[in-house]
Amino acid sequence: MAFFDYREGRLHAEGVSINHIAEQVQTPLYCYSKAALRHNYLAYAGHFNAENTLICYAVKANSNQAVLRTLGQLGAGADVVSEGELRRVLLAGIPAERIVYSGVAKTGREMRFALEQDIFQFNVESEPELELLNEVALSMGKRAPVAFRINPDIDARTHAKISTGKASNKFGIPWTRAHQAYARAAELSGIRIQGIDIHIGSQLTQLEPFEQAFICVAELTAELRQLGHEISVIDIGGGLGIDYGDGAAPPPVLADYAALAKRILGPLGCRILVEPGRSVAGNTGVLVSRVIYIKEGELDRFLIIDAGMNDLLRPSLYDAYHEIVPVTQNAGEPLHYQVVGPICETGDTFSRDRILPSLQAGELVAINNAGAYGAVMASSYNTRPLVPEVLVDGEQFTVVRPRPDYATLIDMDTPDGPG
Ligand SMILES: *Cc1c(COP(=O)(O)O)cnc(C)c1O
Repeated sequence: MAFFDYREGRLHAEGVSINHIAEQVQTPLYCYSKAALRHNYLAYAGHFNAENTLICYAVKANSNQAVLRTLGQLGAGADVVSEGELRRVLLAGIPAERIVYSGVAKTGREMRFALEQDIFQFNVESEPELELLNEVALSMGKRAPVAFRINPDIDARTHAKISTGKASNKFGIPWTRAHQAYARAAELSGIRIQGIDIHIGSQLTQLEPFEQAFICVAELTAELRQLGHEISVIDIGGGLGIDYGDGAAPPPVLADYAALAKRILGPLGCRILVEPGRSVAGNTGVLVSRVIYIKEGELDRFLIIDAGMNDLLRPSLYDAYHEIVPVTQNAGEPLHYQVVGPICETGDTFSRDRILPSLQAGELVAINNAGAYGAVMASSYNTRPLVPEVLVDGEQFTVVRPRPDYATLIDMDTPDGPG
């Protein structure tokens, strides 16, 4: 289903022309499709169909309130990694009983806030975190519901910066220490063990690493139950990749991923939690940018656009590929371009060599599949106002985060230091 498509040669998000949005909002801007978000979430809900499954959208992929509200209204839960994200999802109307809290560095203050809200689960990533959570819970007269995030030492076969399930990664408790960790948790009266959690990486394009991880969890569940631990929740994390259009083998289809999880984990009779981020939000957004100059370099032709690495960091952070398309189709001769932004960094490059139909200054381009890990990673580096976000629904659009003005940005500083 195409939520971003050309109509009479002009790129549209659902029923709204991108040209029209760019005229109203100015560029750069993120544009999301509400129908695409709905479609992707409902695909998860459909394929995991058991009433015993909770889809906890990974908020860090795209945490705009409008996105969270859209998903929450469809029944989504949330996976959060900070107090800020927890506050966001509560404000967006996602109830605490559908929220899990992940992350390696939860502070006592963050734990306290989450315990006050009575969230569904803490995914605990280390022994010291367990001890602190126990202390905080006891001080509040509560018991914290806990799953340990287990690091299964599996190669997710993805980019090194988004692989999380290897023994060398900072995430989770080594599976070799799992028995000890559960034994310790059972001694703590501020802790209630309820499950096991894994998340081995992001943008996975093969099923095998998932299969290995699920088998590891199934075995561990059986062992822990033998030892008398109550395991009623299995959180399989997120990580399913999307097709970025780079010509690589397509990622596994959701139906196969869900079937795999059900085949291996279904017999355990647990509640299954899934934490998809990218595969829900990734293809629901584009970054719209205007060509400022075409510059003929000594070696390359530079397409200099008004979006930079501060607006979309993935290409410079992960060498990520994003499709780039003209917003108004043209029959121009295909040319090689190095596509770059305005930031004073050589890393501010969207593509070193891209063939595009010849473009003129002033034309618009769309950088596709930018709905996840796009706007959330944006900064105001080079004192550029934070990039705005727009949500399209049918024939209408709403600015769901406006571009701040320069005063707002600069007045955050205090010019007078001490003395
Ligand atoms: C980032 C993250 C996710 C989501 O990963 P995607 O690749 O976006 O699906 C899920 N769970 C945890 C713990 C994460 O850190």
